[in-house]
Amino acid sequence: MTHWSLPWSASCLCGRVKMRVSAPPLMSAACHCAGCQKLTSGPYSLSLMLPAQGFAVLEGETVLGGEHRPESRHHYCAHCKSWLYTTGDMMPGMVNFRPTMLDDASWVVPFVDMMVAEKLPGVASGASRAYPGWPPPEDYGALMEAYAKEGARPH
Ligand SMILES: [Zn+2]
Ligand SMILES: [Zn+2]
Repeated sequence: MTHWSLPWSASCLCGRVKMRVSAPPLMSAACHCAGCQKLTSGPYSLSLMLPAQGFAVLEGETVLGGEHRPESRHHYCAHCKSWLYTTGDMMPGMVNFRPTMLDDASWVVPFVDMMVAEKLPGVASGASRAYPGWPPPEDYGALMEAYAKEGARPH
């Protein structure tokens, strides 16, 4: 159940932005939507959904990029433009943190694949559950409960 080995340190590619995660994630996901493919230049984005009080930018300057919409504010390092995390009106009190920024991301496995209707051929994220679109709101309770029990932990 526990053993999250918090807090976790994280930084962008250039190291100017330093972040800290101090609360367990509520869910982890891979999003295969066409937007995330463009944002990441890769086949999907990875998210750890964190309670906002469990996430902090300790130093460095961040800027908005990506969609520039109130629903989804994409935060980047001002210098190297690494995509660090997402906040938005859609998820008040939450931060979608990109776990590839962690000093040690070697344990990260997404729990749920989202938007697999737009997934590129030949791509497998390692997630054990999949949704063609976004998971319906009524599924989140059960998903978070399962993730709290079975979700991948730091080594
Ligand atoms: Zn940077
Ligand atoms: Zn996406």
